Amino acid sequence: MSATGQPSKYHTREYRHAYAALVKAQKAGEWLWCMQSECVMPTRWIPPWAPVDLGHDDAGIELIGATHRFCNRRDGGKRKGKNSRPRRCWTL
Ligand SMILES: [Zn+2]
Repeated sequence: MSATGQPSKYHTREYRHAYAALVKAQKAGEWLWCMQSECVMPTRWIPPWAPVDLGHDDAGIELIGATHRFCNRRDGGKRKGKNSRPRRCWTL
């Protein structure tokens, strides 16, 4: 893969690496915290058995960390609102 051009944001090495870390944490029984700016679930906690996604910021560039799969997919079709950004408490 060349470093030039616009790599697909979902298939970068950084993305795969970070996503693997989330899966590994879940396998270890860890609860993750949804980092989506607009979480639509009752709680931001993501239990080890729930499907997790790796979210991006509003620009779709920077990885923000774990999100509920539902929140992430929802955000993909409708990017808006930069207010009420969550605190960063899951470090990759
Ligand atoms: Zn969520």
